[in-house]
Amino acid sequence: TMIYVPRDSAALAVGADRVAQRIAQEASARQLDIRLVRNGSRGLFWLEPLVEVATPEGRIAYGPVTPDDVADLFEAGFLCGAPHRLRQGLTEQIPYLKSQQRLTFARMGVTDPTSLTDYVAHQGFSGLRAALAMAPSEIVQQVLDAGLRGRGGAAFPTGTKWKTVLDVEAPQKYIVCNADEGDSGTFSDRMTMEGDPFMLIEGMMIAGIATGATKGYIYVRSEYPHAIGTLNEAIHVAELVGLLGDDIVGSGRRFSLEVRKGAGSYVCGEETALLESLEGRRGIVRAKPPLPAIQGLFGRPTVINNVITFASVPLILARGAAFYRDFGVGRSHGTLPFQLAGNIKHGGLVERAFGLTLRELLYDYGGGSASGRPIKTVQVGGPLGAYVPESQWDVPLDYEAYAAVGATVGHGGLVVHDETADLSRLARYAMEFCAIESCGKCTPCRIGSTRGVEVIDKIRADHNRSEQVILLRDLCDTMVNGSLCAMGSMTPYPVLSALNHFPQDFGLPDTRPA
Ligand code: SF4
Repeated sequence: TMIYVPRDSAALAVGADRVAQRIAQEASARQLDIRLVRNGSRGLFWLEPLVEVATPEGRIAYGPVTPDDVADLFEAGFLCGAPHRLRQGLTEQIPYLKSQQRLTFARMGVTDPTSLTDYVAHQGFSGLRAALAMAPSEIVQQVLDAGLRGRGGAAFPTGTKWKTVLDVEAPQKYIVCNADEGDSGTFSDRMTMEGDPFMLIEGMMIAGIATGATKGYIYVRSEYPHAIGTLNEAIHVAELVGLLGDDIVGSGRRFSLEVRKGAGSYVCGEETALLESLEGRRGIVRAKPPLPAIQGLFGRPTVINNVITFASVPLILARGAAFYRDFGVGRSHGTLPFQLAGNIKHGGLVERAFGLTLRELLYDYGGGSASGRPIKTVQVGGPLGAYVPESQWDVPLDYEAYAAVGATVGHGGLVVHDETADLSRLARYAMEFCAIESCGKCTPCRIGSTRGVEVIDKIRADHNRSEQVILLRDLCDTMVNGSLCAMGSMTPYPVLSALNHFPQDFGLPDTRPA
């Protein structure tokens, strides 16, 4: 019997290793023949550790399983899918999972992450195969036609970036993956690296073939030791079978890959600071131009994309641009793995096409707050994202619709707060975060964030409150318009959304229309 126990960090954090150990001990004590597979997570975090058993009807899920439940599960006959209080039924039929549109995350939790056989058995490398039969410009055209935009948060058209790199003549070009996933409440990059690393490798290889780059780097934040370990293991496997190296599966093309560990700086998620860090310097933002696509890593043309951007590419090549483009709304094509975190009952990963609403995510998937109190607001798009009030929870989640209400979809992270949240405190936190993480290159961000903390403190203490509010708005205006990168120019998003939508938390009268 095959038993699956996830090796994803989220499952490990709640004891998956101990559960796996107990299952092995119990099976051996009962002289039962089992095969224990350490899969990725399905992304249903409130059920982790989620143990699955393969039965003739399909995989049956049990969760959340503690080590102390294991003997009882064996006693109940869970190896045959027998009833038990932790039994969740067929995994694929759990509504949270069944109603998703898993394109990028189709294999997530299904396969053994570092098994190449598993990967190939589940459509792995069909995108690469298709790419190897195409001219570089045809591959770029597919990515352009698919309408794929950068999933790191900036939503810049991926194909346009690739085309720029393809069109520049240079003796060396690079592919860089931004895996410095530092946004609060986000984990889709981590899940991909830990749960389906070959998909990222395949996406980066396709990018290399499309642009003429032969060397790739994956810049992973130091807080992700398991992702780093799994990636290195997968790269090693790919090298052994000749997928990576001097002659990709006998095609005469060359591509090698290396993992680099960050050092814990939020701003290194900004692409030019990341390149500085990769080159061995302090992670300070570079002024643009020149664009990294023209003069990037070591001054060479460089494609730099987020994990999910690269991970979306194999499917586009395998199924065709039109297939991918048909998902989504407006100019937001395809799907986004939304990540539910914070004060939410059913935290986890929900991959859906653009266009669903926050309300659907919060209640149909999330099941409301974890505390049971009414939800007050959701910070969408990381620490630089706006606090979205209930009046905007029916706005379709797409890049343009969100921009129109002064918010941002970003990397798809949602941090939920219930009615006990104090938005003036959260606004102060946004300024404080900026002061701590600022790279210091430009004044509005370096000095403005510290002044911002002081001004919000004065507002909270009712020290010339109305004057200070004017000052705060003026400061935010300077930061938005005068900062060199998103760190300084977007910190006002959480601050102003808090001030505008929750004035009473700042001791101000509520003047919003009823
Ligand atoms: Fe550095 Fe902040 Fe200026 Fe960005 S906005 S370049 S993080 S000082």
